Amino acid sequence: MEGGEVMEKGKAETVEEKVCKRCKTLYDPASNTSSSCRFHPSFFVSRRHDDQKRYYELGPDDPPYAAKFYDCCGAEDLNALGCATNFHISYDDE
Ligand SMILES: [Zn+2]
Ligand SMILES: [Zn+2]
Repeated sequence: MEGGEVMEKGKAETVEEKVCKRCKTLYDPASNTSSSCRFHPSFFVSRRHDDQKRYYELGPDDPPYAAKFYDCCGAEDLNALGCATNFHISYDDE
């Protein structure tokens, strides 16, 4: 096999990673897509059940203030995967 093309070496080998402002994850700007960043658009809250939004099913023995969840999706685990995705945002952006 004879190749006439010379591959450029040493270019684009050093990936400049950035830290996402939102999810605090290191990411490669070159592969930042609209689904790269998983996050919760709202806060993790601790409050009592309200009737409009039943995020959390309380057990019979739970006190009414036991509800802790993400206000956006109702995930009860603080470490739950984000329910929304978007591009990562670097601290340089904006
Ligand atoms: Zn991110
Ligand atoms: Zn969420």
